[in-house]
Amino acid sequence: MDSQTRTLTSDDLCVNCVVCVGSLDLFVSNLVNGYPTEDLGHSCLEQRWQRGGNASNNCTVLSLLGVPCKLMATLAKSHEITFLLNDLAAYNIGTDLCVEHEDCATPVSIGIINKQNGSRTIIHSNPNLPEISFIDFTRLVDMTQKWIHFEGRRNVEEIEKMLQHINDYNKTKQNDAIVTSVEIEKRNPELVKLCSLADYIFISKEHAMMHGIASKEDAVRKYLQYTKNGAAVICAWGETGAAAKRSSDPIVACSCYPPENVVDTLGAGDTFVAASISVLSSHESTDNDVLLKAIDYGCRVAGAKCGGQGFDHLK
Ligand code: ADP
Repeated sequence: MDSQTRTLTSDDLCVNCVVCVGSLDLFVSNLVNGYPTEDLGHSCLEQRWQRGGNASNNCTVLSLLGVPCKLMATLAKSHEITFLLNDLAAYNIGTDLCVEHEDCATPVSIGIINKQNGSRTIIHSNPNLPEISFIDFTRLVDMTQKWIHFEGRRNVEEIEKMLQHINDYNKTKQNDAIVTSVEIEKRNPELVKLCSLADYIFISKEHAMMHGIASKEDAVRKYLQYTKNGAAVICAWGETGAAAKRSSDPIVACSCYPPENVVDTLGAGDTFVAASISVLSSHESTDNDVLLKAIDYGCRVAGAKCGGQGFDHLK
């Protein structure tokens, strides 16, 4: 399979930015007035094409919050690529670290959003697009970045190598070490291996519940035992807000900020991660005050996100 790098544009040349490594897909959202009956035709109230994928959503929110960022994702050279690249450009998200693949299909998610109860039924498809590899990473990332965030996906061994590569690089630096974070969201037990390698670990409620954990506080205590010295664990837990803990410091926690009307919760977790990183990446200090400020802002922005469709109202 042939793969190639995109051509650099002036917008791509930002150093000191946040890079999000992970997925980019096309999300086709169908808003329906009641869940469809099997084997019948239905009209929807509204259909939209949206750019999706956790890392891609993280970049959207970072960019809307004014943080220079780049997406590092694979792209299929299929007809949806024009829509995806135009949308990334519209949000000023750097794409010079994206890797295009010939003869692959774009991953597509079809969403059925029931207006009656807000339920979200999603069907994913990714027939053959590979993930970002360690080789892609070492070929393209020049280590001028301030922060590199990884979306934990199926390519756990490759992400382990990328994080290890950054840790080795950081050992050679007195100042300006690259800060790393990883999101452990999917129900894949292998992802726990990544906890020992990053500076910030974002654990989802879904992943914690798979291990029988019942609260955000228990989640941060439990996962902290897998981390390296000085790392922090952060966990958002839907309507109960978020908690975080670093080393032997006390747990910090905050509640959520409900909007007047909950309109769209899709991407709330991605928004929380991005907004928290926007605070953490703008502070040198690793005090508990900063950790609390980060998760509190994460919950504020995620709550605001739930009050509107998509992300644009966060601007
Ligand atoms: P995910 O989208 O990954 O399922 P969560 O449901 O844990 O993520 O939500 C992430 C954050 O979004 C929460 O910590 C909370 O601050 C905010 N959030 C989620 N749902 C709501 C809601 N109904 N009202 C207000 N804030 C919410």
